[in-house]
Amino acid sequence: MSMTSMATTALARANRAAVDKATAALAAVSAKEFSSSAMPAEVVLDAAVSDANKLEKKHFEIPEPLMMGPGPSNPYPRANDAMSKALLGHMHAPMFPLMDEIQTGLKYVLQTENEATFGLSASGGAAMDAAVSNLLEPGEKAVVSVSGIWGERFTEKCLRHGAEVVQIRKEAGLTPSFEEIEKVLEEEKPAVLFLCHGESSSGTKQKLDGVGELCHKHGTLLVVDTVCTLVGEPFFTDAWNIDLVYSGAQKCIGCPPGLSPMTYSARAMEKVMSRKSKPDIFSFDVTEVGRQWGFNGDKRPYHHTPPINIMFAMREALQIVSEEGLENSWNRHLNAHYQLWEGLDKLGLKPFVKNPEDRLATVNCIEIPEGLDAGKLIANAYDKFNLEISGGLGGTAGKVFRIGLMGYNCTPRNVESVVTAFEDGLKQQKFL
Ligand code: PMP
Repeated sequence: MSMTSMATTALARANRAAVDKATAALAAVSAKEFSSSAMPAEVVLDAAVSDANKLEKKHFEIPEPLMMGPGPSNPYPRANDAMSKALLGHMHAPMFPLMDEIQTGLKYVLQTENEATFGLSASGGAAMDAAVSNLLEPGEKAVVSVSGIWGERFTEKCLRHGAEVVQIRKEAGLTPSFEEIEKVLEEEKPAVLFLCHGESSSGTKQKLDGVGELCHKHGTLLVVDTVCTLVGEPFFTDAWNIDLVYSGAQKCIGCPPGLSPMTYSARAMEKVMSRKSKPDIFSFDVTEVGRQWGFNGDKRPYHHTPPINIMFAMREALQIVSEEGLENSWNRHLNAHYQLWEGLDKLGLKPFVKNPEDRLATVNCIEIPEGLDAGKLIANAYDKFNLEISGGLGGTAGKVFRIGLMGYNCTPRNVESVVTAFEDGLKQQKFL
């Protein structure tokens, strides 16, 4: 049986048991209290029902590739299995200790003691929207480092929000230096500086040490995107004085997507609390979300229904990361990165990021050799090896392949599979 159908069967079994129990209890009550003389009833229809979009009864096969692109990655099987537990009500008492555990695990992976640490019910990109909406009031200024798609997106979101943007632009494959950042902060004194720790469209890693202090000297809050780095690259929210960090579930944490880690420093929360206007996205307002998560007041009122099964998976994934330990996880990612480049180098493939220090371990960008049909190589990897690898994104589209070494998938064996798929693809096109 496939992993997906096993998980589906387990889910069906768990749900079945819960439903059977409830049905038996209800049957006992209704046998006593309700008469069935009014049954069966029929709804009165105001219009004819169209069957145009009714789904055909058939088995819909979901493939199970090894996902070695820039994300999502295959989650840890234990995290995947945790999703098949019967659903819990999000306002039921047992849910709150589960949320508390997630907060604790997130504080560990984010290396922070920030109270405002939680999982946002949304994608990583939506967590970026949350950062803009909470930390910037319309008319305020943000300095945004742009060397790929995520800086472009942050810019776009600020502009839509009515904020002013000054960009630090670098070519894809490069990152701004400390001195360049310092100069712009001195000139602009922005409310927010945005840096992307791992620019997954070009495979670069931004150095962050010292930038937090620099920001605070100029009254600026530092926002960092760690969607493709958290748990895969060394990262220290508190020691690096970062004010807002967001990430994604589906990469190095090894959880399916849907709950995005976020943390706000005390400084960031002060800013939110002293705003003239309320954050414009109610669903992402950290003060509202924080009540349900329990860090903004001691009552935990309803704010929204979160992706509860993903929360089961997130707790399990954070448990797995805790068992391994962050340092071991970072070393595992680094070693896989070196193994990958050793293999690719033997095939004559070149890194897109020229400075080794700026290369991400988690998302690796490979230059597409002149004359090679990249689409054909990617299709061959999928068809022959059940292996998902990816092309570039935004400015790197058509220029690079992207390989993700993240979370559960980051193993020596999977790296070997990637190298084999490249070797095969290159031979097929007579490049070897
Ligand atoms: N930032 C970075 C660095 C990413 O790699 C991604 C996802 N590829 C995102 C943001 C957006 O995350 P999501 O797809 O979950 O919205």
